[in-house]
Amino acid sequence: MAAPGVRRLHPYQPGKPIDELEREYGVSDIIKLASNENPLGSSPLAIRAMEGELADLWLYPDGSGFVLREALARHHGLDPDCITLGNGSNDVLVLLAEAFLTPEHEAVYSQYCFAVYPIACQAAGAVGRCAPALPQDGGQPLGHDLAALRERVGERTRLVFIANPNNPTGTWLGEAELRAFIDSLPDHVLVVVDEAYHEYSKPMGVPDATLWLADCPRLIVTRTFSKAYGLAGIRVGYALSHPEVAGMLNRVRQPFNVNNLALSGAAAALGDREFIDRSVAANAAGLEQLADGLRRRGITVAPSAANFLLADMQRESGPVYEALLQRGIIVRPVGNYGLPNHLRITIGTGTQNAALLDALDDLARQGVIDAA
Ligand code: PMP
Repeated sequence: MAAPGVRRLHPYQPGKPIDELEREYGVSDIIKLASNENPLGSSPLAIRAMEGELADLWLYPDGSGFVLREALARHHGLDPDCITLGNGSNDVLVLLAEAFLTPEHEAVYSQYCFAVYPIACQAAGAVGRCAPALPQDGGQPLGHDLAALRERVGERTRLVFIANPNNPTGTWLGEAELRAFIDSLPDHVLVVVDEAYHEYSKPMGVPDATLWLADCPRLIVTRTFSKAYGLAGIRVGYALSHPEVAGMLNRVRQPFNVNNLALSGAAAALGDREFIDRSVAANAAGLEQLADGLRRRGITVAPSAANFLLADMQRESGPVYEALLQRGIIVRPVGNYGLPNHLRITIGTGTQNAALLDALDDLARQGVIDAA
């Protein structure tokens, strides 16, 4: 009885939760490097703000998210009418599909793109056009190929999804090429630039597409508090767009899609520069530590502008994933992305990264992976 798009859907596969590994394997002191969470935890200012909210949880949240939208408007130098809050940025990606896609319409995205784009498109009953990714041996291995994406844009296209940087590849697009792509799109197409990893990627030179919103009325930029802000558990993300687009999203948005704790925690986190700076610096150091360590062990890793690395195990990665689970380390197999030989590994603390590298040495001694 389900809608045809839903019947054919394969649900999103999240990273394995710590509790589940404890239950299934009886291991403790688990290191989770599977969901691109911030290994430093949450902004302390956000935690304090949420503690102050506990006595008021019997009240519904402010459905308009006034305080957080005002804070975001100041942060981005935009009008609050440009902001749509979501239960994670995942929520706003789904709202975009609900508001702009129908079975007569198409969405364009890349091979190896973030898994939610095809899911949201299919759930809306729309047609997904998947552009082949760049080759593995280029400068941006398996990254978005803008020419291939552009070729798939047609009369029926309503949405183009681009993640910059992309998950699970870690690859990114430069300013000139991305802006030229956006400018080349016809007027009946909205382009979504998903900047979930922006705080990490900005210092690495990845463009800030929010700066183009004033002269690109069909551009939508999504951001999240789940990554560098360390607030994945409270679920807050947002879209920045032309107010008319935000108005459409507001029509399909659940009236209370962002809860009290999330509204206050996110607003406080936004003002915690110290935590963001510390998180970004720790990630840069950890990225270098892990990429060097993996390469020294003969494992190929693509360059990454995010808080994770895509490692090519040059063999089916399932047994490596399992062997790491047995040692209390959760990484992310990406066979569901069509990458059966790869693992996506979130950058942990220095100690966690070292523990992963030690575990890989152990796997090499056991013959699970080749010794370098
Ligand atoms: N976009 C990208 C590219 C992501 O990697 C993620 C998280 N995996 C999201 C969006 C959604 O994150 P959230 O819903 O927690 O904001």
